[in-house]
This record gives sequence, structure tokens and C-alpha cells, in this order.
Amino acid sequence: MKFDRLEMLGFKSFVDRTVIEFGGQLTAIVGPNGCGKSNISDAIRWVLGEQGPRNLRAKKMEDVIFNGSADRKPLGMAEVSLTISDLKGIVTSPEYKDYDELVVTRRLYRSGDSEYLINRNPCRLKDIVDIFLDTGVSLDTFSIVEQGRIEGLVNARPLDRRVLIEEAAGIMKYKSRRNEALRKLELAQGNLLRIGDVMREKESRMRSLRRQARKATFHKEYQEEIRDLDIRMSSLDFLRLEADLEPAEKNYTQIREESEGHSATLAAREAERERCRIEVAERSEALAETRRRAVEVEGYLQRLENRLEMLSSRLLELDGEDERRREEMESLRQETRRLEEERSRLAGEERSLSAPGRRGSTISGPMN
Ligand code: ATP
Repeated sequence: MKFDRLEMLGFKSFVDRTVIEFGGQLTAIVGPNGCGKSNISDAIRWVLGEQGPRNLRAKKMEDVIFNGSADRKPLGMAEVSLTISDLKGIVTSPEYKDYDELVVTRRLYRSGDSEYLINRNPCRLKDIVDIFLDTGVSLDTFSIVEQGRIEGLVNARPLDRRVLIEEAAGIMKYKSRRNEALRKLELAQGNLLRIGDVMREKESRMRSLRRQARKATFHKEYQEEIRDLDIRMSSLDFLRLEADLEPAEKNYTQIREESEGHSATLAAREAERERCRIEVAERSEALAETRRRAVEVEGYLQRLENRLEMLSSRLLELDGEDERRREEMESLRQETRRLEEERSRLAGEERSLSAPGRRGSTISGPMN
């Protein structure tokens, strides 16, 4: 495997698209201090999947995005693409094993969103890490040797040097796979322990369920026995009740007949009651009529009494008048008698006067 090309855009000091072609066996970057040489190895580290900002000489991951200079505004995204070739037979992942060349890309936005791509297709970080593991390049090893680390290597203990040689020989991927396998084994052992616990728990639950099942069987048997006994008792009850039933039925018939008789009597009484009710109503009406008539008669009597009183007083008046008339008549009679007497006397006087010797004398004047 070899690096063919590194392309940076907005990564640290590489504000414009910058391409480095690794054409020959060896590529050297030369420049003054602070011109950005280490930013190139940071870019390679970053595109390999580095997650620690400190390993990229930054405080936070966002610091790898170009943050502006005197004459350029900050950018919102950093992107690094690494083209690797001579991959035939190295990559194990089924998806990429047929490729001889791959372009691995990492993008980071200032919002915090990041993207990983292989051949410009979105992928997981793990896919990229797996490809580099297959190639023997790893962030944890000596694939990338920063400034000052050479000295460390020269002075390294034989054991550390062996690591470097092993990595160069390409056995790191096997080591990493062994570690992965050990980790999985550990996980499986943990799972086995948990399964053992679950099994024990299930067994105790099984025992309890078996006990419950036995109890349920006994319960079912007893239930059936109870049902059997219930049926027998019901049959006995039935027979006894059937024996009791005949006199009870006779009794019932008699009671029913009596009841019918009572019902007929009741109906007759009801009819009688209804008739009485009607009669009472009629009498009440008649009484009301009589009372009304009595009130009328009373009024009439009152009027008659008033009239009688009036007539009595009129009668008294007439009696008084009658008395007066009688007295008047008496006085007229007396006057008449007196006048009769007067006439008799006068007639006597006349006769005496008309008697001989007395002719020539005349009596004149009214008689009454
Ligand atoms: P040395 O040889 O000391 O390592 P160098 O040449 O490798 O130096 P670097 O340290 O890689 O240089 O680069 C540092 C330069 O990168 C500085 O000028 C710094 O301002 C610039 N730089 C780092 N991060 C950013 C960023 N996010 N945006 C803009 N410029 C940045």
C-alpha cells in the first residue's frame, strides 16, 4: 500500500485547496519554522480517523478548521482526502476488497457535524479504521512519527523497537484482530456468566413453576371430585324433592283453587266497591245540588221573610189606618146619628111647625 495524494481544503493553515502528490519513493516537505509542515502530518492523522484534538495540537476538534488570518475570513468546513493505492489483496472488507485504489475523505463543519467518505460515498469511521488496519497503518503505532520521536526510537528499549519492527512487518493488523478477538471472547465470557445467572434464575423459577403445576394438578383432581360429589348430592336432593313434590303439588292445586276463589271474590268486591264509589259520587253530586237548592231556598225564604216583614209592617200600617178609618167611621156614624137626630128633631120641628096654627112660618137652610 502507498499514499498517492493528499488533498486539503480549509484544514488548519491550508485555506485553499492544496494537493500534495507522493510520486516517488520518498517525499520531503521543506519550509521554514511555522510555515505549516506539521499541519500536513496532522491532516494525515486526522483523515486516518484521529479523535483526540490534543494529538492534532488543538484544544478542540473545531480548531482544525481554518480560523482566519489578517486577510482571510474563517471557513466553515475542513476537508482532507487521502488517496491510497496498491491495495489489491490487502483490504479484507468485502465491500472494498476488489479496489486497488481508494480515496478516503473526512469533513468537519463548524456546527460540529462530521462526515466520512470512501470514494466519495458516505461511510462509517469504523470502515476507514478497518481499511487502515488492513494496510498496517495505525494511529497507535509508529506509522506516523512526529518531531522529536526519532530520538525516542533510537534510544528505545529492544521491546519497543520490536513493536516498530512488527508494525513494519505488517503484523499489527493481526495483533489488533487478536485484541478484537480477545475483547469479543471477554464479552462472550461475560455473556456466558450472565447466561449462567439467568439459567440459575430460570431453574429456580422452573422449580417454583413445577411446584405450582403439581398444586394445580391436585387442585384439578379435587375440583373433579368435588364436582362428582356435588352431582351425587344433587341427585339425592332431586329424588327427595320428587317424593316431597306430590303432596306439595296437591297443596299447590288446592291453594291455587282457593286463590282463584279469592280472586273472584276480590273481583266481585272490587265491582261492588266501584258501584259504591259511583253511588257515593252521585249522592255527593245530589247533596251538592240539594245544598245549592237549599241555599237558593234560603235566599228565597230570606226574601219572603223580608217581604213578610214588609207586609207585616204594611199590615200594621193598614191596621192603624183601618183603626183610624173605623174611628173616623164611628165619628161619621155618630155625626150621622147626630145629624139623623138633628133631622128628626128638625123634621119634628118642621112638623110641629107645619101643624095648624103654625102656617106661615118657614124653616130654610141646608140639611147637611
Ligand atoms: P514546526 O516546524 O515548528 O512544527 P511548522 O512549519 O510545522 O512548524 P506548524 O506548526 O505545522 O508549522 O504550523 C503552524 C501554523 O499553522 C501557524 O502559522 C498557525 O497559525 C497555523 N494554523 C494552525 N491552525 C490553524 C487554523 N485553524 N487556522 C489558521 N491557521 C492555523
